[in-house]
Amino acid sequence: MATLRSYVQGSWYSPADSADSGRPLHDAVTGEEIARISSAGVDFAGVLEHGRRVGGPALRELTFHQRAGLLKALAGHLREHRDALYAVSARTGATLGDSKFDVDGGIGVLQAYASTGRRELPNDTVFVDGAVEPLSRGGTFVGQHVATSLRGIAVQVNAFNFPVWGPLEKLAPAFLAGVPSVIKPASPTAFLTAKLVELIVDSGLLPEGTLQFVAGGIGDLFDHLTDQDLVSFTGSAATAARLRTHPTIVHRAVRFTAEADSLNLSILGPDAAPGTPEFDLYASGLVAEMTVKAGQKCTAIRRAFVPEQHVDAVVEAVSARLAKTVIGNPAAEGVRMGALASLEQREEVRRCVKTLADAGRIVYGDAEKVEVLDADAERGAFVSPLLLTADPDRAEPHEVEAFGPVSTVMAYTGTEQVVELAARGQGSLVGSVVTADPAFARDVVLGVAPWHGRLLVLNERDGKESTGHGSPLPALVHGGPGRAGGGEEMGGIRGVLHHMQRTAVQADPDTLTAITGRWVQGAQRTETDVHPFRRHLEELRPGDTIVAGPRTVTQSDVEHFAEFTGDTFYAHMDAEAAAANPLFGERVAHGYLILSLAAGLFVDPDPGPVLANFGVDNLRFLTPVKFGDELTVTLTCKQLTPRDSAGYGEVRWDADVTRQDGESVARYDVLTLVAKKEGAQ
Ligand code: NAP
Repeated sequence: MATLRSYVQGSWYSPADSADSGRPLHDAVTGEEIARISSAGVDFAGVLEHGRRVGGPALRELTFHQRAGLLKALAGHLREHRDALYAVSARTGATLGDSKFDVDGGIGVLQAYASTGRRELPNDTVFVDGAVEPLSRGGTFVGQHVATSLRGIAVQVNAFNFPVWGPLEKLAPAFLAGVPSVIKPASPTAFLTAKLVELIVDSGLLPEGTLQFVAGGIGDLFDHLTDQDLVSFTGSAATAARLRTHPTIVHRAVRFTAEADSLNLSILGPDAAPGTPEFDLYASGLVAEMTVKAGQKCTAIRRAFVPEQHVDAVVEAVSARLAKTVIGNPAAEGVRMGALASLEQREEVRRCVKTLADAGRIVYGDAEKVEVLDADAERGAFVSPLLLTADPDRAEPHEVEAFGPVSTVMAYTGTEQVVELAARGQGSLVGSVVTADPAFARDVVLGVAPWHGRLLVLNERDGKESTGHGSPLPALVHGGPGRAGGGEEMGGIRGVLHHMQRTAVQADPDTLTAITGRWVQGAQRTETDVHPFRRHLEELRPGDTIVAGPRTVTQSDVEHFAEFTGDTFYAHMDAEAAAANPLFGERVAHGYLILSLAAGLFVDPDPGPVLANFGVDNLRFLTPVKFGDELTVTLTCKQLTPRDSAGYGEVRWDADVTRQDGESVARYDVLTLVAKKEGAQ
């Protein structure tokens, strides 16, 4: 039987063991042995060294946008080959729907990070985090946070239930941040991750050393970690606790995040009685969470809290739906729920269900028996969906995670009580509240939020378009406090910044501009003969400035603007009312008139490299402008963001509109698209 290969130090490595040794991996549906897994002989210190020496420098040479471009290309490549992944995925017990959840979900994460990278990160290798902090009266000493790529490796230990999504959701933010990855899949389904890595390596898209793959244990790898490395773990709380207390993790302060077990809840609102759309959403949501991936989802609903008076109706509705769920060989027509990932996993689920049943009773299903289509229920890792009821005051339902198609319904009598029961899960990934009552939703969400990473409020209004309870989304935090691990694996830009070091840089404005490539207030401005709007992207430099004005604001300007736009607010038009206004004391110009006059001053009207103005950021009106005031605008090129795939880029300008006495009346960033030189792409 073939032993899975690892992809380390630039090539595929077959374990030193003879082909028959290593841990056997089985087809979850037939029980047949598929492969063996062993990492015997892998040089783990060498793996880390290869990533640091080869992968890290190659990645850090690329800008965020270039890395995003590679992630996009990789997503496209994997999409083209997803049938090959579905085929292997079926052997983990997954139905086609489950496989899509895993495979397409993973590809979706790559895509999401590709667009986040281009949208929210600069076309640069340093991320400027937040605003400049003034630190001195004279403005010669300022502070700015910057984030730079850690110089180490992201070691990614994954759980068995998402062999494609799991690795990709960790790879994407690390790659975008400029940190190479070492992927270690969970053994039972590692054959699918191996296929994924094979496709990635064959694509030739990722620079060498940016992705390595270890099939099997990770030996002494942790001993060789340094302060620049990270470990992202997904799996059980017990393993998380063991790994996070490894002496190297502790002594070298290695960044360690865990996504662990979670006793996720779903709460039915008292308003959602049988017959309401919310009741149906609740019942169908619970069934989906029990049966998709045969309940092997870290986000699946384990605790179903239901108003006392609706418990029987919920049990009845859920049981009726479960009875219609065909279980069996994922390849067979009509099968809705496949097998668990392994026979060991089934034993573990049965053991947990026994404990849960001691605290209540099974109201649907039999843990030892299940009817299956086109498969042998015993040789394959099949188990029936199991619905239980329990006394909410027992500890077990809040503590025991049966990682399969298992949920426990518990009755509650009031909002305060259900919030208190929620907290007994000691920290969860996700919770849902199904209600059409906004007041109940507010009380529950704000009550249980400290114990949750994500909360879904579901009702008739969002039910159709909702992505559901169990789907983590790349743009939103995925992770949870306490028992759920305390980590944030995903979550858009947060996941990227986790792989970077944030540093507060204190300097004078000119030096800070040189360091970050972004002009900051107080730094030198360069007034040139050529209007900056006549310059192409490559010719512009941060600091290029035009000063235009003055222009006197008159009463007739204000009245003309008021009549023309219809904005006849009293502060502009009614002298008596304006005099009574505590902020103005007399009639003042419209803020938008100031913006318009400023544009009239700085714009160069002829066709040229400036293609469009696509917005303003950070607009503040600072001082009222009165009739007779003279306005001058200083427009300074602040930041250039070339787009790799277009003949133009974004230019951010600092606009400072001042009065005759030098006082700023308005400040904002003007956002424009500026063409590259002809022919440039
Ligand atoms: P697990 O037994 O804790 O294993 C998780 C990973 O840790 C596997 O890759 C495993 O590799 C590895 N591992 C175990 N012992 C290790 C050690 N001493 N040193 C290094 N690595 C070690 O969990 P699992 O059974 O795969 O996954 C099921 C659990 O994961 C469930 O409890 C579920 O709730 C949780 N989960 C959480 C999330 C989340 O996002 N929060 C997502 C999915 C699953 P081997 O397989 O080779 O031992």
